[in-house]
Amino acid sequence: MRFDVITIFPGLIRGYLDEGVLGRAEGRGIVAIETWNPRDFSGFPHQRVDDRPFGGGPGMVMMAPPLLACIAAARVANPGAPVVYLSPQGKPLSQKDLQVMAGWLGLILLAGRYEGIDERVMGAVDEEWSIGDYVLAGGELPALVLMEGLSRLLPGFLGHPDSAEEDSFSSSGLLDCPHYTRPEWCNGEGVPDILLSGDHRRIARWRHQQALLRTRIRRPDLWAERSLTREEEILLKEADMAEGKY
Ligand code: SAM
Repeated sequence: MRFDVITIFPGLIRGYLDEGVLGRAEGRGIVAIETWNPRDFSGFPHQRVDDRPFGGGPGMVMMAPPLLACIAAARVANPGAPVVYLSPQGKPLSQKDLQVMAGWLGLILLAGRYEGIDERVMGAVDEEWSIGDYVLAGGELPALVLMEGLSRLLPGFLGHPDSAEEDSFSSSGLLDCPHYTRPEWCNGEGVPDILLSGDHRRIARWRHQQALLRTRIRRPDLWAERSLTREEEILLKEADMAEGKY
């Protein structure tokens, strides 16, 4: 999958790629990531890309001409890829959305700065996505969030193809179960016996039960959307009985 990121701070993107799994995925050819700096398309003195807002008010606004020229160039390099503006006003991004996007061949990601972009750029934008109901200083972190979340779903990114399927928000609709590793004892707390039993069928059952319990307690919104299988009803009843709830 090819990502083209439009940003006035390409070093923020490259710096992250130099250190993390996303950069390794790039090295292994799972993704290709290119950055485009609107300053290179400015045409204004000192490669300026921002100006004061019409009507007054605080802050600066990213000017339309450099962004439109940059988007046009990125479209030529990544034909057919939708242009996505990362914005707190966009649709909130979820794992389900990432699963859909994982089937696409490419994305052009526009990272804003300052008070945002001139509204007339929106005519060249295909989609607007938010990474949550809070405001960051720029769209570079949201672009990285989107690229990493998406890349994890691409074949070859994760060591084990089932890993993503066991994650929270996967098709099971449940949060992930608790995990433990060595040492067996830590701060006076041991590991649940069942995980040391070597009985893989019982371990899988226990993990499923824990995922159900966690989701029921922590995410009533997800819980309400989901219906239980007969096996899951039994798992929950067993857990509730062990807690003395019956
Ligand atoms: N004035 C804008 C508003 O209130 O909607 C916020 C502008 S913000 C300071 C600057 C840039 O950061 C935005 O153009 C956008 O690209 C990015 N950004 C900030 N928060 C974001 C979020 N939650 N999701 C996606 N992008 C975000």
